[in-house]
Amino acid sequence: MDDQVKYLLPESEIPEAWYNIQPDLPRPLDPVLHPGTGQPIGPADLAPLFPMAIIQQEVSQERWIAIPDEVRAIYRLWRPTPLFRARRLERALNTPARIFYKCEGASPAGSHKPNTAVAQAYYNREAGIRRLATETGAGQWGSALALACTFFGLECKVYMVKVSYQQKPYRRSLMETWGATVVASPSGDSAFGRRVLAADPDSPGSLGIAISEAVEDAAGRTDTNYSLGSVLNHVLLHQTVIGQEAKKQLALADAYPDVVIGCAGGGSNFAGIAFHFLADQLAGTQKELQVIAVEPAACPSLTKGVYAYDFGDTAGMTPLVKMHTLGHGFIPAGIHAGGLRYHGMAPLVSALYAQGVIEARAPLQTDCFAAAVTFARAEGVVPAPETSHAIKVAIDEAIACRESGQGKTILFNLSGHGNFDMQAYDDYLAGRLQDYAYPVEKVEEALRHLPPVGANA
Ligand SMILES: *Cc1c(COP(=O)(O)O)cnc(C)c1O
Repeated sequence: MDDQVKYLLPESEIPEAWYNIQPDLPRPLDPVLHPGTGQPIGPADLAPLFPMAIIQQEVSQERWIAIPDEVRAIYRLWRPTPLFRARRLERALNTPARIFYKCEGASPAGSHKPNTAVAQAYYNREAGIRRLATETGAGQWGSALALACTFFGLECKVYMVKVSYQQKPYRRSLMETWGATVVASPSGDSAFGRRVLAADPDSPGSLGIAISEAVEDAAGRTDTNYSLGSVLNHVLLHQTVIGQEAKKQLALADAYPDVVIGCAGGGSNFAGIAFHFLADQLAGTQKELQVIAVEPAACPSLTKGVYAYDFGDTAGMTPLVKMHTLGHGFIPAGIHAGGLRYHGMAPLVSALYAQGVIEARAPLQTDCFAAAVTFARAEGVVPAPETSHAIKVAIDEAIACRESGQGKTILFNLSGHGNFDMQAYDDYLAGRLQDYAYPVEKVEEALRHLPPVGANA
């Protein structure tokens, strides 16, 4: 069919292994350091927070890691997700480019995040853990983990960034429907949360603060582990089912991308769509590939941050990782793409950026919403505000093709739908959305407080 729109795979084509990019990196990752001693940490340091299977995945140099049958059985509820050719968008833009998007909004939680939530809940249950504590920004990760915990009979406690808790009450209802307990962060449920509230009772919260609260919760109870929805190597690993499926689906369309685009908060859906294609490039078996991570102008960790050792949270309780960061004390403006409001970027994505393998862009939120509306009117799906960043750059690339006459193949990840984000669309359509560009002074201030370890010192 030459006007085919959906490229579908049978359940038998759900990947059997996750792709680990670590052995294929041009240079290995820098070690993770202990927050107290500044020395490289070992598996025992992480054991209070994570099950051993996850800790091993974090440092694994195996290229392929088998997906347990129980995890694949749950993936069947929404995987393989469809790949679409955006023919109506191509026509609306009058571009010679071919635009494809992988639809991770098809999961029950509405985003890519259950791909790792299910794996993490599985390994924790296998290790005898009864309860998971986590943070959530926009509510996407909290809902994904609530869903996964319900499948595996685990309790789930979610610290939800206060501005999202207020902006997105139905995300909270969704988590509660799946059985989770949700509090607005900063909360009174942790010592750190109480400290933040004492200093600033109106704190809008941030992912960094919520992470500190969840880590404190998990570290203080033996029946509880911590679970993170992005940034760490094992999370990016679990998301590689996206790109593996997309590659097979593009082959059905007789296509291979020239440009791969993903929005990037902590970097996990970007890694999910991009890493299996980057593998071809790193192995030299495929042509040059342009891979673009898209972050918000209000929180530009790749394009405006520094590549340095920093804490993953605000309190400084997590290990130190080498990453692109705006400083762990940086609290981004309350933009609607809550899932992109994180001060750092995954070490794997940061390393690929520092090594010149990938590019990054940082558009303004009103331009992203304009792109999202163009997309929704052409393709139907209303994208999550986070996803609109990838769409903005996909449209920019397609328009560049119209101007240059090049028929490039563009692939982007539709990381989630925006059906719970109608307040954001309401604000945009009513002209109430503000743009926040790069807040130079706030970032400079936050960067003065990087921990004095390694090359930072
Ligand atoms: C959480 C989220 C993101 C950002 O997280 P990454 O780890 O960078 O992928 C992007 N899109 C959606 C829909 C999300 O829920």
